[in-house]
Amino acid sequence: MSKLTSEIENRRTFAIISHPDAGKTTITEKVLLFGKQIQEAGVVKGRKGKHATSDWMEMEKERGISVTTSVMQFPYGGKVVNLLDTPGHEDFSEDTYRTLTAVDSALMVIDGAKGVEARTIKLMEVCRLRDTPIVTFMNKMDRDIRDPIELLDEVEDVLKIKCAPVSWPIGMGKQFKGVYHLLEDKTYLYKSGLGHTIQEERVIEGLDNPELDQAIGSLAADLRDELELVLGASHEFDLQEFLDGQLTPVFFGTALGNFGVDHMLDGLVEWAPSPLPRETDNRDVPATEDKFTGFVFKIQANMDPQHRDRIAFVRICSGKYQKGMKMRHVRLGRDIAVNNALTFLAGDREHLEEAYAGDIIGLHNHGTIQIGDTFTEGEELKFRGIPNFAPELFRRVRLRDPMKNKALLKGLVQLSEEGATQVFRPQNSNDLILGAVGVLQFDVVAARLKNEYKVECIYDQVSVATARWVTCDNEKMFEEFKRKNADNIALDGGDNWSYLAPTMVNLNLAMERWPDVTFLETREH
Ligand code: GDP
Repeated sequence: MSKLTSEIENRRTFAIISHPDAGKTTITEKVLLFGKQIQEAGVVKGRKGKHATSDWMEMEKERGISVTTSVMQFPYGGKVVNLLDTPGHEDFSEDTYRTLTAVDSALMVIDGAKGVEARTIKLMEVCRLRDTPIVTFMNKMDRDIRDPIELLDEVEDVLKIKCAPVSWPIGMGKQFKGVYHLLEDKTYLYKSGLGHTIQEERVIEGLDNPELDQAIGSLAADLRDELELVLGASHEFDLQEFLDGQLTPVFFGTALGNFGVDHMLDGLVEWAPSPLPRETDNRDVPATEDKFTGFVFKIQANMDPQHRDRIAFVRICSGKYQKGMKMRHVRLGRDIAVNNALTFLAGDREHLEEAYAGDIIGLHNHGTIQIGDTFTEGEELKFRGIPNFAPELFRRVRLRDPMKNKALLKGLVQLSEEGATQVFRPQNSNDLILGAVGVLQFDVVAARLKNEYKVECIYDQVSVATARWVTCDNEKMFEEFKRKNADNIALDGGDNWSYLAPTMVNLNLAMERWPDVTFLETREH
């Protein structure tokens, strides 16, 4: 096998999907601890409790940590793991969704006391767009959680994915004793209070081992009974079904107690796919092709307040990046020499010499790079599957100085190309309406408009509940649709027709009335 192929097949690129407070930050710390990137877990700071502010510099400072942890690369189990951050609290945004288009697998973290929560459902829908394989971690076993069987049922019912328990919890809360690993036929015993370390766990071989009864008393008999029930009612792990996104292996543990996280990681590096082929407008590109290709899934504004640069995050889809190489920016038909791409070893920004398919590199961007852009070694390709997502929050933008309308529109269109927000221009008014999926996006846009475009704006509430992009093969009918619904029709930043619905009921009615019009929740760049 060539070095290129072995490097690429060794890559595992994933992201964490979870509802706020389920334990994503904690699990990231432990994962990095296992990746030996940090001596003692506790370095990855959460971003909660930080208030959204319209002061850009303050925001930079507050969000600094989330920038450096945007991508974390570390070795684990002989593999090179890339963990992509998915902003989750106030900094939840369309980037969170788009990051999921740049991974090959995802880890779903569920709070065992709460079960499947709203944000998880939404993020799972995004994973479904590409049938991304999902590994599940049921967290907080050291608390009084819900019945584990019930939790699996809920995942199956609500998320429509089969569950294959790989480990099974013994007790919960103060009585949490550890997990039984179904595939290894071993029991791992839990000791509390060691969450900041990698523990020497006591392991008992075999379910019928009397040592188990000595160690956990009557819970051993309960475990045996329960497992019989579980095996009857749940699915066996099946690699192909996992890779097809139809089945999720489930691990139980506590991120805080750093227990079970390694079992989950072991499963992830063993089963999760190495970089997958990616679809373009004319062919599929296998990851192990010699020539470099990649696409932009995120643009992070201004990491260094001294320089107004932005970093474009590129997922390498094939081949490798080498310092000084020439890349073609396909949309602009322009070749550039790249000497200073960035990599993100946990916690640190670093200049790197080379990177392989599956890795993420950061390119300095002075406003020419857009979300969805493709870079190649010369081939005319465009990667697909890096969409815009229908916004869920809307604001009307008003200028403090009405003379600056042109600057405002220019700024908004550019910011929408970077994925900071989406902009809609209703056909029946002179309004400008911004759409976002996270509320902080509005503050970021206001701050950047002020800093970079010298326009100050105010937001008003607007009665838009949701938006859909609309298309129709029948041109005449489309014209009629637009005329009859003129109050709801708008153009987005890229001049695509969209339908702004004041309520979900209104949207459903419109969809019923116009069966030949397609209402889309995502739009390709
Ligand atoms: P995030 O919002 O998903 O990043 O969640 P955090 O990792 O910040 O966790 C939210 C809260 O749950 C914090 O107070 C954590 O200390 C706590 N937490 C995380 N994992 C566990 C766990 O396994 N057991 C317990 N008892 N608490 C946990």
